[in-house]
Amino acid sequence: MKINEIDFDTYLKDYPDSLGFYGRYGGSYIPDELKNAMKEIYDAYKTICKSSKFISELRRIRKEFQGRPTPISHLERLSKQIGNGVQIYVKREDLNHTGAHKLNHCMGEALLAKYMGKKKIIAETGAGQHGVALATAAAYFGLECDIYMGAVDIKKQAPNVARMKILGARVIEVNDGLKTLKEAVDAAFAAYLKEYKDSLYAIGSVVGPHPFPMMVRDFQSVVGIEAREQFLDMTGELPDAVVACVGGGSNAMGIFSGFLNDKVDIYGIEPLGRGIKIGDHAASLTYGSEGIMHGFNSIMLKDKDGNPAPVYSIASGLDYPSSGPEHAFLKDIGRVKYDAIGDDETIDAFFKLSRLEGIIPALESAHAVAYAIKLAKKMNKGSILVNLSGRGDKDMDYVIEKYGDKYLQ
Ligand SMILES: *Cc1c(COP(=O)(O)O)cnc(C)c1O
Repeated sequence: MKINEIDFDTYLKDYPDSLGFYGRYGGSYIPDELKNAMKEIYDAYKTICKSSKFISELRRIRKEFQGRPTPISHLERLSKQIGNGVQIYVKREDLNHTGAHKLNHCMGEALLAKYMGKKKIIAETGAGQHGVALATAAAYFGLECDIYMGAVDIKKQAPNVARMKILGARVIEVNDGLKTLKEAVDAAFAAYLKEYKDSLYAIGSVVGPHPFPMMVRDFQSVVGIEAREQFLDMTGELPDAVVACVGGGSNAMGIFSGFLNDKVDIYGIEPLGRGIKIGDHAASLTYGSEGIMHGFNSIMLKDKDGNPAPVYSIASGLDYPSSGPEHAFLKDIGRVKYDAIGDDETIDAFFKLSRLEGIIPALESAHAVAYAIKLAKKMNKGSILVNLSGRGDKDMDYVIEKYGDKYLQ
């Protein structure tokens, strides 16, 4: 598939196809027992997402509960410091209730569960961010919420475990294997298989089997729709470049979807961590190859046996060995450029944004800011819009402990 064979006027309707493929990527590689459950979700979503009742309820919730629309802020002092006239702007997803973009798709998924008559939502969580957003949505709608989490992660992420419990979710400890995210995914899927008549599985990014990459993108597309209109209002034109960090890829697909049909350069930024050695980063699109995991075909990082490789990033929301299938597709056709940024530049950007603009970003989002600064230095005019996916409160203890000596007096 080549970029000039694609009609971007109708792209969001044309992709994925009816089997969930974006070109060669995506699909649904799952046990037969789960296929019925996924088909039920797909059929329900296809009908419900078009009903005016669902659309207006989601719209009301976004406004009254989430705090949407989130604003765009012009980073005047940071742009001035770069000094060549290039202007940087950020879409403030950090101002969403619970502090990140994840609530955009969690509220959508939970509302879908309610319309489908389900009583419970089930998910896994690694660092706990998806678990907290989903537990919030479950509380709002009066649904039960089971969150599967590896025992190792439960120890590391005590504040998020507390949040989930306070919100009324059940946090179920997983003690298999390495006791982290992979085992939690397996345990959550196994539980869902037993309970799918009364429950909905809620995936935390544009990953997993069809229809999740599509559904999560659709729920996140509010970010791109708002951002395009706000940017035009604010500046009278479109940005020259749009930048977002990519873990699974949901915040990136959200903002990208608003600009795919425009003459705008789009950049997806992955974590280069400590360097390019396997195990030191999680830049799957930049350094990976085609493969199937967690029910979908995409580009992934593999060890020498072809299994998902160990990954690392300073930002726990980005350390995933693959990315959503639509990103693999957009990379192949050349519509989006993917690149990676390491820990050190990320921390620099974290402090720059905090000190020049009064915004403490999530370490995930700081990757996108770091890349925007680098890109701005290479351009000599124009504007860059960054998706600031979340706020940095969750990262402060870690940053102080690890980088306090260098950055604080
Ligand atoms: C989870 C998370 C991410 C990564 O998820 P995507 O699906 O790649 O967007 C990025 N930023 C923040 C703040 C997060 O919490």
